[in-house]
Amino acid sequence: MVVDQKVNGIYIGGEWLDAHSTRPVQNPATLEKLTEVSYGGYDEANRAVAAAKSAFPEWSTKTARERSTFLYKAYQKMMEKKEVLARTLTLEQGKPLSEAMVEIESAASYLLWYAEEANRVYGELIPSSKANKRLLVVPQAIGVIAAITPWNFPASMVTRKLGPALAAGCTVVLKPASQTPLTAIEIVKVFEEIGLPQGVLNLVTGDAKAIGDAWTENPDVKLITFTGSTEIGRQLMQKSAQHIKKLSLELGGHAPILVLNDADIDLAVDLTIASKYRNCGQTCICTNRVYVQNDIADEFISKLSAKVGEMTIGNGLESKTTVGPLIDQSALEKVKEHVQDAVLKGASIARGGREWTGDLEGYFYEPTILVQVNKEMKVMQEETFGPVLPVDTFDTEEEAIRLANHDQYGLAAYVITESTNRAFKMMEALEYGIIGINDVFPGAAEAPFGGMKESGLGKEGGKEGILEFVEMKYVSLGVRI
Ligand code: NAP
Repeated sequence: MVVDQKVNGIYIGGEWLDAHSTRPVQNPATLEKLTEVSYGGYDEANRAVAAAKSAFPEWSTKTARERSTFLYKAYQKMMEKKEVLARTLTLEQGKPLSEAMVEIESAASYLLWYAEEANRVYGELIPSSKANKRLLVVPQAIGVIAAITPWNFPASMVTRKLGPALAAGCTVVLKPASQTPLTAIEIVKVFEEIGLPQGVLNLVTGDAKAIGDAWTENPDVKLITFTGSTEIGRQLMQKSAQHIKKLSLELGGHAPILVLNDADIDLAVDLTIASKYRNCGQTCICTNRVYVQNDIADEFISKLSAKVGEMTIGNGLESKTTVGPLIDQSALEKVKEHVQDAVLKGASIARGGREWTGDLEGYFYEPTILVQVNKEMKVMQEETFGPVLPVDTFDTEEEAIRLANHDQYGLAAYVITESTNRAFKMMEALEYGIIGINDVFPGAAEAPFGGMKESGLGKEGGKEGILEFVEMKYVSLGVRI
């Protein structure tokens, strides 16, 4: 299905613009070309910053209530258009339509939450140690911010940044991932339709390196908020050093799920499947490794394998599909490489383990379970970003914690247990920014989401999320007494 022959993905100062060239966007389930999208670069990126800079004084001095009203209208408009948005998302990204709908609703919830939080960015009056001084802390919008987002959640990764940035009074330049620009274009149109002032939100699709270079080099960009791989996050950090630019980074992860021997095994199986195979395993917080306590391992693995065998692979637009495609050929190659590497190092395949060759052309891989795994395998150390689940076992809680903590990553970890005591013990010892206990969907607009170690810096969501976009100015006021 072709969306349109060509789509303008460059929106600067309230105008949709063409670029010198375009790039195709394809449906990863069918390999059909959906459309061509403008391919901007360094110049477009800098023009977008200039537009955002000129819109900043007026936007940042609107009252919080005024900014809140724009966000609330955008939330309502997004919910009105949720069917169309979800369909666009599935077409370019591949995830089942039901998951796309959940993502759009979640994406809209960030606009609603930050419409409310816009009114709650408080300052402080500090009790002074000197009688003739008054000490104030005054929050102010940081300025123009640049947002760079990935393809795996093309809607919620965008609004998780736009919501708090616009609420705080910042103006924005946005670059979505090349594989999924259409959802971002539709979200920008939502803001256009609700009458967001020109220049407050600008979009540039195109050459990632050129756009990233323009925004890290441009001193008018005061903060880069990036979601994506640790590798690109590190590069942006290095390039931002030149201007000591503030960064907010949501990066890669390698989430363990610990199934303790008092767990409800059926619940543990359902939660593990929900966490691993959502979005075909292409989720930063999805389970990458299972550690199950030895005395329940056989029952857990046999129930897990049976249920994984019931999953339906296919086009996300079909209602029966529970696992869609991988995003592209290189994603498929990485999954194949990780499985091959594990098998060469001694793993056994309990389920799947092959490319899916059904009636579709796209990038499909069977939901896979590996057993007899060890930490030398890539799948136990690197993000596979695919539907492959290695299952290991442990005897003691201490061993589980040691296995679960990762040298590099610290984004999310899960514990399945009926014991509050054990849950607390594990939660305190796990070196991760997000812990799910009997819950594998911890993301919520009202909660601070973010990783430790090389999984990132800063938080998105919650009251903490908006503070990334605010400069706390300290004022010391001398008074005559
Ligand atoms: P990626 O390759 O790092 O790309 C992310 C974004 O950065 C895309 O828009 C990409 O543009 C852009 N980019 C690439 N090279 C760049 C450069 N040199 N300068 C500036 N921008 C550049 O990551 P991905 O493959 O899209 O996403 C998967 C990764 O994101 C995984 O590691 C996942 O764990 C992580 N993730 C983390 C979170 C979180 O909240 N922590 C959430 C979702 C995803 P192009 O698409 O045009 O190359």
